[in-house]
Amino acid sequence: MAKVVGIDLGTTNSVVAILEGGKPVVIPNAEGSRLTPSVVAFTKTGERLVGELAKRQAVVNPENTVYSIKRFMGRFMTEVNEEMKLVPYQVVAGPQGEARVRLQGKDYTPQEISSMILQKLKTDAERYLGESVTKAVITVPAYFNDAQRTATKEAGQVAGLEVLRIINEPTASCMAYGMDKQDETLTILVFDLGGGTFDVSILEAGGGVFQVKATNGDTHLGGDNWDQLLIDWMAEKFKAQNGIDLRKDRMALQRLKEAAEKAKIELSQVTQTNINLPFITADASGAKHLDVTITRSEFEKMSLNLVERCANPTRQAISDAGLTPEKIDRILLVGGATRMPMIQEFVKRFFGKDPHKDINPDECVALGAAVQAGVLVGEVKNIVLVDVTPLSLGVEVLGGYVEKMIERNTAIPTSGKKVFTTAADSQTAVEVHVIQGERAMAGDNKSLGKFMLTDIPPAPRGIPQIEVNFEIDSNGILNVTAKDLASGKQTGIRLTGSTNLPKTEIDKMIKESEAYAETDKKKKEEAEVKSQADSLIYTTEKTLKDIPNVDSALKGKAEEGMKKLKEAMDSNDMNRIKSESESLKQVLYEVSSSVYAQAGAAAGGSGGKTVWTPQGEHPVGNEPSSPGGNGGVIDADYRVEGDGEGKK
Ligand code: AMP
Repeated sequence: MAKVVGIDLGTTNSVVAILEGGKPVVIPNAEGSRLTPSVVAFTKTGERLVGELAKRQAVVNPENTVYSIKRFMGRFMTEVNEEMKLVPYQVVAGPQGEARVRLQGKDYTPQEISSMILQKLKTDAERYLGESVTKAVITVPAYFNDAQRTATKEAGQVAGLEVLRIINEPTASCMAYGMDKQDETLTILVFDLGGGTFDVSILEAGGGVFQVKATNGDTHLGGDNWDQLLIDWMAEKFKAQNGIDLRKDRMALQRLKEAAEKAKIELSQVTQTNINLPFITADASGAKHLDVTITRSEFEKMSLNLVERCANPTRQAISDAGLTPEKIDRILLVGGATRMPMIQEFVKRFFGKDPHKDINPDECVALGAAVQAGVLVGEVKNIVLVDVTPLSLGVEVLGGYVEKMIERNTAIPTSGKKVFTTAADSQTAVEVHVIQGERAMAGDNKSLGKFMLTDIPPAPRGIPQIEVNFEIDSNGILNVTAKDLASGKQTGIRLTGSTNLPKTEIDKMIKESEAYAETDKKKKEEAEVKSQADSLIYTTEKTLKDIPNVDSALKGKAEEGMKKLKEAMDSNDMNRIKSESESLKQVLYEVSSSVYAQAGAAAGGSGGKTVWTPQGEHPVGNEPSSPGGNGGVIDADYRVEGDGEGKK
């Protein structure tokens, strides 16, 4: 059976895992790391970099290096004012006001950027497993709304992955933790503070059933906010001393960002750290350097408000689950930012007990996704996941109020049906405005979209019966239909304002990503041709040097061949390189044969001397170093297969 991977598509890092022998394991990436930075960059030469390579060049190419794309998934421009300030790349509005990023003059949807990260994870997993990977379970923050979940699913599709299930990150962590503790019934609170989002989920786990009781969170709170505090603190200090605002210079800002994250991470270990950024900027008086020291307690003091923002969602989740803090048996800390001592102390203060330290906060989400993948393909038995919808869903009714159709924290999949009527005489159309959130007035919640049901037979107000049906699937994705019970006419969801991508656009993206795969493949082939040519020259030179008595005419021919091949390489013309390589190879064969003949003659046909073979273009016993090598070439040999699924 084809393998299904579990993917944690994180704000900062992503992780891919698989079940091996019934146990989830993390798959290392091509660079040998277990975490892949969720970073995509386009270099000046048009090369696309993903992961560590993209992250490494961020300082010199900040405006074309995208990180934290997850903060923009399924979001409109009006929703990302805060996040836009945190990133050095350009965020622009798409045709429906949705957030996109502009890189080198081209606009990309967050789905597309995320798909590039997913493609790398897919390719690395394929390399590790030695077989193609086409199916995945992908995790999202529990608090992701419908548009954000759909966008994640679309990113998977563009990357050539059939997304079997979208599951909530805290639920995944809990599954990874509870997989082998099936004989106890535990109330577990997952406190997940990642790079960009904060999620609290409460689950009851026992006998292999994972039942989510409540979930809450803040989609604008994560480790990045702590970085921002330090960036502002450094920039203000520098401005006070030098009168220059470093945040206005993209390159300086990127250096500040990296330094801030590093300092923040160091302050989780040590009580004081020094931040030293030489040559951060310059003015008429010369180069300027930033050199500051910060203590953990100063950092904690400036973070008080951020820590406090964790309290409300935690309190709300506990009360929604009908519990009190003492009733929580285990507190799991997930997400890199929970490594900050101030967060661990907050949790201890809040619950009056220590959080559980037994899990790896970076990996447990992907591990749980792999467990769920195993459940879906039948490899893992006796585990059932009952998840909930994190926010209430409803429709706008007369007066701008919300009529709830499905309450928050209802187990999914679920559906809700209600009958509505018209507000005016002879009204022949109704607008169904789908709302997500807890507030009473529609305008205070998130609008998921609107659609019209038309051609209702004219009748006095209050007579027509319009049945509205909400259905949430196991991914937490919503479908809405409205039906006029008299005529039987029905309309499905057409979320006009939604960030969902039309099928045509998804197809276009898949094509583009295939085109990228094609160019990357071509680049790889070119690199191979050049590297082989390099080895050939090396081998020829070495052969001529090592064997002094090569016939002088043949030697001249070989030297001429090498010269021509070098010229071809300078011209960068692949066909020419190939044909010159072929010619030189022939000459090298001749050299080899002549040496072999001489050797044979000298040794009277017996062995005893080195025998040369052109096989593999290298003399046996001489392991040529490959001066050209494959260095700098990004291996992006990915496969793209759509799952053929239409828009949800
Ligand atoms: P995640 O999204 O779970 O990968 O979490 C990433 C966030 O955790 C980023 O903001 C990191 O800077 C932060 N992080 C990772 N390790 C640490 C650490 N030791 N101390 C503080 N923050 C950390």
